[in-house]
Amino acid sequence: MADDKDEKILCYRCGYSADKGDKHCVLCGAPLENLCMDEPGLVHSGCGAKNDPHAAFCKKCGHPTLFHHHGIVTPHPSASGIKTFPFGGFSQPNGGPQAPLNQG
Ligand SMILES: [Zn+2]
Ligand SMILES: [Zn+2]
Repeated sequence: MADDKDEKILCYRCGYSADKGDKHCVLCGAPLENLCMDEPGLVHSGCGAKNDPHAAFCKKCGHPTLFHHHGIVTPHPSASGIKTFPFGGFSQPNGGPQAPLNQG
């Protein structure tokens, strides 16, 4: 009974069957685990937590995940920025209707 630990991790980008324990795919360089961004050099570094493969943002700290950074997962459209309306929205007229003082 040999405990053959031939577990494989499928690369989410190219489908390569990498050895478990590998950090990156040897074919395409994509990360094999969807970790929170903790790459050195970044001003805002994440916490390094492991997230689900479909997670675009870290569930713990909200930083972009490695899969997001490498374009493996696409964040929700509403996360791409603040939605801007072409008409600038409604603006109240200056002052607005004034309620007459009701005395007596
Ligand atoms: Zn790959
Ligand atoms: Zn995080």
